[in-house]
Amino acid sequence: MSTAVSRGTTPESPARRPRLTVLSGPSGVGKSTVVAHMRKAHPEVWLSVSCTTRKPRPGEREGVQYFFVDDEQFDKLIANGELLEWAEFAGNRYGTPRRAVLDRLEAGEPVLLEIDLQGARQVRETMPEAQLVFLAPPSWDELVRRLTGRGTESPEVIERRLAAAKVELAAESEFDTTLVNTSVEDVARELLALLR
Ligand code: 5GP
Repeated sequence: MSTAVSRGTTPESPARRPRLTVLSGPSGVGKSTVVAHMRKAHPEVWLSVSCTTRKPRPGEREGVQYFFVDDEQFDKLIANGELLEWAEFAGNRYGTPRRAVLDRLEAGEPVLLEIDLQGARQVRETMPEAQLVFLAPPSWDELVRRLTGRGTESPEVIERRLAAAKVELAAESEFDTTLVNTSVEDVARELLALLR
């Protein structure tokens, strides 16, 4: 008679815990707000800071929300293989610096990426063990309201972001988990639980 042997397949086993978590979802859904809320209470949660060719919004600081680079610098990051993934989104490019993420993962620390759908798909390809979390709006109308109400983008940019949002929403089934952003507090708590 054989004896059952634990192979670390229980959910609480460290070996089974996803170390890399990707949070994605349409622009305006509140990804940054949820992550900021979670990190206020849990500053130990490490979030990758992306590079972007987008200009800073009022209040955004270099190295905090993003590393702001020009097109030439972004080209170099790609050419030198310094980005884990990158994508063009609504007229700007965004990418995840590879080294910092790999260093954290090698140290066994959880890593959180907040990136768009194209980036999430690239991570799924290159790191299939990653956990993909989709943040969905309570409704389409609510998403339109949030994107428009932000007041930081031109009508043209908002249109582009809404068009991208339709594509992103259609891809929800590609993700491991969906969180619906009805309450920042609730979603932040749920996300934290997924990270641990
Ligand atoms: P925003 O301009 O509103 O800060 O970001 C626009 C979109 O780009 C958001 O969906 C955001 O998650 C995504 N994004 C931010 N950083 C990255 C990144 O490094 N890679 C990819 N693929 N998308 C990113």
